[in-house]
Amino acid sequence: MIYLDHAAATPVSDKVLEAMKPYFDVEFFNPSAAYLPAKKVAADYEAAKGVIAHTVGAKASDIVITAGATEANNLAFTAISARRLPSFEEHIFRRGKYGATEPRNDGREGAFRERWATSCVLYLETEHESVRAVAESYGGVAIKVLSNGMIDLEDLKAKITDETQMISVSLANNELGTIQPLAEIAAIIRDVKIDRMKRGIKSQLLLHSDASQALNLLDINVARLGVDLLTLNAAKVYGPKGVGALYVSHNARLKPLTLGGGQEKGLRSGTENVPGVIGFAKAVELAKEHLNGNRKKYASWRKILISKLKDYELINKKHCLDNFVVVSFPGLDAERLIFLLEEKGVYVATGAACAASKGEKSHVLRAIGLSDELINGSLRVTFGETNDEGQIIKATRIINEIIKNERLRIGMN
Ligand code: PLP
Repeated sequence: MIYLDHAAATPVSDKVLEAMKPYFDVEFFNPSAAYLPAKKVAADYEAAKGVIAHTVGAKASDIVITAGATEANNLAFTAISARRLPSFEEHIFRRGKYGATEPRNDGREGAFRERWATSCVLYLETEHESVRAVAESYGGVAIKVLSNGMIDLEDLKAKITDETQMISVSLANNELGTIQPLAEIAAIIRDVKIDRMKRGIKSQLLLHSDASQALNLLDINVARLGVDLLTLNAAKVYGPKGVGALYVSHNARLKPLTLGGGQEKGLRSGTENVPGVIGFAKAVELAKEHLNGNRKKYASWRKILISKLKDYELINKKHCLDNFVVVSFPGLDAERLIFLLEEKGVYVATGAACAASKGEKSHVLRAIGLSDELINGSLRVTFGETNDEGQIIKATRIINEIIKNERLRIGMN
């Protein structure tokens, strides 16, 4: 098997598994329990959180552990609901008889909805579903990308209003690997805040970034990026699935999505996933250790693939993670190509795995202005630690063969 879909999932590495194992049986204690062995587990858990936090330049107390990136993204947006929704609802509804809320019906609802919808949350139009869906649930407005997948900074500036409370831009896109200029976005936000301050406007303006795909390939530092909220995902760094984290700066005040025992400072109740977090910590440690070596390796594999593939269009030309190669074979059907490649033991993806499984055309490829023909023929190849150079050369040969046969089959040549 040649697995070239590391953006969808990474296998848990042996070292990660080894680190996790004792916490399933020997060190199984509930970290909240009062006896000594449980206190040791609690200390190990905190230390692991410290390691995760440290890799992004933060402290253990700055991060909230979640069950994956989807939850971390959802939690990030509660910074909005905590402050904004009550006043929004006050404007839309009034207390009716017996305390029930009812629409005002005074003609103001539309105006407030419009104001809310045009300004409160801005998100990049190419975000992962777990950001898009939650941003849209807050009436979010999409910021446009340029044809190279990079944020359109002019569009961002034009869309920020005095009502904007949160801007969400992923550090690296999950379909193209495009790396966004977070520090530049943070600088724009700083200027907006200074201007607001001068005008006596006290409302918050937070920058959230989903760094799920980036953690493996980029040296991330929250202060350097200028983010207030940052989503991390263990499943993309050879750690366990269903484990994630949200970095939360002192500027952001969140509301819990789950209520209960008060773990994670009340922001994420439920018995801690100790093995998962221990595994996550080991995974980020290893990722940091291998970062430069991996980047070089992937960049050279990218060159090999790009130079040896035939009759294709390169979609993600620059500003992208080294392990992402997105290509399109116009006139061919990528769904069929994937099936044919699988028969030869090569595993790749068409756009995002989730979008592909729903049978929808990729919103990301649409956003960068690709024609239907290019979208239909596009494959996403993502390298990772399961690969070596020989595999890349072999996969390239297999892809070329399949493309040639497909073209012959449908009479394209
Ligand atoms: N954000 C990005 C950029 C992703 O690539 C993914 C997973 O593919 C997620 C969020 C969701 O992660 P999870 O399914 O682990 O919650």
